[in-house]
Amino acid sequence: MIAKVIVDISVSEVDRVFDYRAIDGVARGSRVTVPFGRQTTEGYVIDITDNTDLPQDKIKDIISVLDDRPIVSEEFLSLCDYMTERFHLRKIDVFRLFLPAKMRGGRIKALQKIFVYINPDYIDVDPNLFIKKSAHSQMEVFEYLLDAESAEQSYLNANFSAAAVRNLIARGVFLTRVQDALRTPYKGVVQKEKDVVLTDEQSAAVNSIMSSEKPSLLFGVTGSGKTEVYLDCIERVLNQGKTAIMLVPEISLTPQVMRIFRSRFGDDVALLHSGLSDGERFDEWRRLLTGGARVAVGARSAIFAPLTNVGLIVIDEEHDSSYVSASNPRYITRDVALFRAAYNGARIVMGSATPSVESYFGAKNGKYNLVRLPHRVNMREMPEIQIVNMCSEVTYGNSGMFSKSLVTALEQCLASGNQAILFLNRRGYSSYVMCKKCGYVAKCEDCDVSLVYHKEENLLKCHYCQRRYSMPDLCPNCNSPHIKQGYMGTERVVEQVQKMFPSARVIRMDNDTTRTKDAHLKLLSDFAGGNADILVGTQMVAKGHDFPNVTLVGIMDADMSLHFSDFRAVERTFQLITQVAGRAGREKKQGGVILQTYTPKHYVYKYASAYDYEGFYEKEINLLEATGFPPFTEILRILISCEQESIALDATKLAIDEARALAEKNDGCFVYLNAMRSPKKRIQAKYRMQVLMRIKPDNDNLRKAVYSIADNVISAYPQVTCFTEVNPNDLS
Ligand code: ADP
Ligand code: ZN
Ligand code: ZN
Repeated sequence: MIAKVIVDISVSEVDRVFDYRAIDGVARGSRVTVPFGRQTTEGYVIDITDNTDLPQDKIKDIISVLDDRPIVSEEFLSLCDYMTERFHLRKIDVFRLFLPAKMRGGRIKALQKIFVYINPDYIDVDPNLFIKKSAHSQMEVFEYLLDAESAEQSYLNANFSAAAVRNLIARGVFLTRVQDALRTPYKGVVQKEKDVVLTDEQSAAVNSIMSSEKPSLLFGVTGSGKTEVYLDCIERVLNQGKTAIMLVPEISLTPQVMRIFRSRFGDDVALLHSGLSDGERFDEWRRLLTGGARVAVGARSAIFAPLTNVGLIVIDEEHDSSYVSASNPRYITRDVALFRAAYNGARIVMGSATPSVESYFGAKNGKYNLVRLPHRVNMREMPEIQIVNMCSEVTYGNSGMFSKSLVTALEQCLASGNQAILFLNRRGYSSYVMCKKCGYVAKCEDCDVSLVYHKEENLLKCHYCQRRYSMPDLCPNCNSPHIKQGYMGTERVVEQVQKMFPSARVIRMDNDTTRTKDAHLKLLSDFAGGNADILVGTQMVAKGHDFPNVTLVGIMDADMSLHFSDFRAVERTFQLITQVAGRAGREKKQGGVILQTYTPKHYVYKYASAYDYEGFYEKEINLLEATGFPPFTEILRILISCEQESIALDATKLAIDEARALAEKNDGCFVYLNAMRSPKKRIQAKYRMQVLMRIKPDNDNLRKAVYSIADNVISAYPQVTCFTEVNPNDLS
């Protein structure tokens, strides 16, 4: 028998099937070791057949089978085929997604422990017959086990006399067995379950989700009780004997969320997230594989939870950009979810208070089942959002970061003993150029996205079409010299706050202060616990926690994400404002939001301050249609990188020539096509070039033709790295 093997080496040249002679125990999905060149490597068996093109004497034997069962299920073998084709990935990169990283190469194994129990022959016998009166320690541990039934030997040694334990084992009174021990994270986290009776709206949502053949989009305002809806749906599928996957953005995986799931489902939940040790991650994964847990909760990669018979997949905060991976292997979580749901006959629910425009478009066009939760559970009003025009502050001589209104509101908030959050809108470090006097922002005339300032060349560039503009000295709109890069740092904000309010306790939360593993959660819980008065932070403060004493949220620079060079910039701004505003006045206290902007007339602020998602959506979808962005097109980017600049240029020339030929053959399918240097020109000493195109959406054949251009580039220039992205989140 011949085993078709994918070897665990991530290089395009070996991304194909190799034939080996199967040995005993090899099956489809087995993880094996094989000879490869002069070395030994791991690999995955994707098929067993009788056919091979190799002569018999050239076929080598598989060396060994690594696990006690095929580790890649039939579902995941099909998923691998689907993902390699849909996203144009190497097979091995997909297999690596399926297993915990440290499991490959045998770096981690099940933790095995010795358990001790009483020999059944001694259980109903008077212990004084085999334990001497003087041997108190033996009697103690015997009585303990009579009660506990079994315990780890190391536990007994630590808590009783190790000699006594040894003695009883030696005499056959105690028996031992070796058993896998599990490193379960958050074992201590148990919360008494709140008795929640779903509201009528929530029950209707659950029924609609569970009876819909189509994926559901749960559009529920903040505080509408979406989590309870998910929990109820999960409970239903568990009662049907099925399993469930719940995805949340990494940043929202707070202890609070984990506690909710643990208290509801106990050991049936496995948590998968980046804060786990390798051992914990492996054990949680294995509990899902072996049926020890039936609910997987985690960030994006939990979509690959090794569950069978999946009945439900939840994608919470579906608009979050973390659901599209930004580096190889690039995949779209929702598409993987759709595949798994179709394979298992499972339901899908995607939830958000601010659905992505793309998803809402899908719901309106019948692709998704739209489910609404328009009311907050506690019927509380959303906090009022006050828009402050920073340009007029400049006119009145205040060119600082704090408007008068924000200073006054902070004073009142602190005086009444409440807490405040100051939010800095930070996404990447790309810098736009803005006039502080009139709010003018430099934009591309062709694409309607903000231009990015390139300091070395003192030029403004459009990241979508690469058009260049000179940097103006005076504002083209009002002739003011106050035209600059718009940028504000958390440190400077903290400095200013301390100057104005010397006695206030301030916590800063940004990439610098949250480098270590648990720093993010620690800062949040410090603030929640009342150890500070003001929390200054970036996107990280927007999600996860409830802060009952927060009555003021200040959005320092709302425009920052608005002028990000991205066609989704306005949408992301709307989502952020809604989310951050939701931090004010969560519980009993009414809260308020102050939003500082240099472009107060921008439509996003009108809709966001009125909490008018529908109005915003209508405006936005019309603009996207007019400018030819998704969902009306699909953006494809072929990214080429190489250490030698001339080779990168040649490879790019080949790609653009082939793309142009393809565009000619497919008249009208290409909306846009160009080749250029990537905005980040060099990363890790590699020159980066790109061919950017927008094509009519859902055209599988055309997308595949573009993929084969990338293949041709690699075969013509083996030195280059070349990937194709579909609707990337960011074009840096
Ligand atoms: P969302 O995720 O939609 O913003 P949550 O699920 O966090 O909302 O719910 C908001 C609050 O309302 C939570 O404290 C939750 O425990 C509570 N809640 C949700 N549903 C109910 C209900 N049916 N009865 C009472 N409280 C509820
Ligand atoms: Zn101006
Ligand atoms: Zn442009």
